[in-house]
Amino acid sequence: MNIQMIIKNAVKRLELEGKLLTPDFYTEAFCKESAKAGFNVEDCSKLDKFTLMLNKEFQNELKKYHIKTISELAHFLISKLNRTNPSHCSNLLESQTVFTKRVLQVIEVLHNKEATELAKKSIDLLSREASVAEIDQYRQLWINFITTYDDTFLNKLKALGEIDGSDLKRSVQNLNLVRMCNESLSTLELSTIASLLVSSLVPSIASSVNEKIADISHKIKSNPAILESSTIEDEIKSAILLRIALDKQSVKEMIESIDGVLDKLSIRLIEMIESSDNSTVEIQKIKKELESYNEQSDENSNAIFGVAHKKLYTIAVALEENTQALTKDLKKHSSEVKILSKKIESLEEELERAKEQSKEDFLTKIYNKRALDEFMNVKEAEFERYERNFSIVFFDLDYFKSINDTYGHDAGDAVLFAFAKILKNEARSVDIVGRFGGEEFMAILGETDTNGGVAFAQKVRQKLKKARLMYKEERIELTVSCGVSDRKSNFSLQGLIKSADEVLYKAKKEGRDMVEYK
Ligand code: GH3
Ligand code: MG
Ligand code: MG
Repeated sequence: MNIQMIIKNAVKRLELEGKLLTPDFYTEAFCKESAKAGFNVEDCSKLDKFTLMLNKEFQNELKKYHIKTISELAHFLISKLNRTNPSHCSNLLESQTVFTKRVLQVIEVLHNKEATELAKKSIDLLSREASVAEIDQYRQLWINFITTYDDTFLNKLKALGEIDGSDLKRSVQNLNLVRMCNESLSTLELSTIASLLVSSLVPSIASSVNEKIADISHKIKSNPAILESSTIEDEIKSAILLRIALDKQSVKEMIESIDGVLDKLSIRLIEMIESSDNSTVEIQKIKKELESYNEQSDENSNAIFGVAHKKLYTIAVALEENTQALTKDLKKHSSEVKILSKKIESLEEELERAKEQSKEDFLTKIYNKRALDEFMNVKEAEFERYERNFSIVFFDLDYFKSINDTYGHDAGDAVLFAFAKILKNEARSVDIVGRFGGEEFMAILGETDTNGGVAFAQKVRQKLKKARLMYKEERIELTVSCGVSDRKSNFSLQGLIKSADEVLYKAKKEGRDMVEYK
């Protein structure tokens, strides 16, 4: 197809469409026919070119009015321009400029040095009559800024899970500054360890170490990486050791103070028991003291002391209640108790008297020394008054110590009892026999001279010698030495006793198991 044929077809088209052969209709028909034939005619695409240069609003209007030709476009634009108010245009431009300035002022305060400077300069630019070239230059500067702006630090913070990029201010407020010190994850771990470490150091019982701990805590928190240095390790170790030592000391002091309270309490309790009438008053004193102790104790010891204090206070209250009931009871029974204690007192006195008055030897059940002394005094009185003679015989068991040593003390006692029995059996009813002490015995024989006394002594001596003294199926051999004298042969009672003793000694000296006399 050539150009003549396209022209022919265009004219044919106009005839078919019933259109006049005007330049506009012809151009339209020609362009359609050339496009149909596959020809690209530059003049035919001019309308589209101009249309694309207009804003969207105008483009839509062109469609609405079916603008198909250049001259239609020209008419449309001329009518638009004729209808446009020139003051409206300048007003629009002015308000756009002010709006832009406000945006720039906001950018100026956004804490980015580069953006602030660029915004300042842009505001200057808009405040005077800048050339299009200048405005284009700044438009480019802004493009440069936004393309080179590095916001990767925000991404790093986001990665830490700490920051919300859309609300920096709030994020910064919530941010754990320790974690910002370093970007690596190991620092995160370090800071966790640091927090743990610091919290493990506090709270301490001993307040004096708190300052040191606070100092270390501050160091660690402000730079967790410091944990890797050996100096901080030593500092922590020494703080922990100091804390342990001070805490120990504190606990010791607290225990001492509690001991002090307990000591005072026990003293008070003893006093209270001693004066049972005042017990309630005394316990009330203890309660008061406990209250004052609580006030005295320093803040530090309050925790431990408080527990002990509460317990003690409860005890004191319970004691108060109990003693009140007890005191009532005691008062009720006190008269009975007084009577009973008087009885006990008198019984004790009686027992003492009875002991003193006793004439019986506890072991052998014959007379004791006190009885023998009394009888001798009676016999002496009778001698002095009626010249009634009497003799005395001293008996001393031979080698008695060896019986104790060989068979034991119980055997010795049994032998003493057996000898007393022989003595009693051999004596007449009027004769007086008794134990003088230890293994020494005595007989006081009324109306009897030395010869009679010797006869009695010999009887006893022989009886003993023949006696079968058995102790646990063992026969104990025993002899006795005797010393005899009578009152007539001596100047006094003391002389009589001395003589009898001397002759007994003689019997011993001469071989034992014999009777000597004077
Ligand atoms: P001698 O032949 O010289 O009298 O020797 P002896 O061992 O009998 O005399 P000595 O005075 O040396 O010892 C007396 C002992 O008698 C010593 C003492 O233990 C014992 N004796 C004294 N009284 C009692 C008593 O009541 N029971 C017992 N089992 N022994 C007693
Ligand atoms: Mg003796
Ligand atoms: Mg003896």
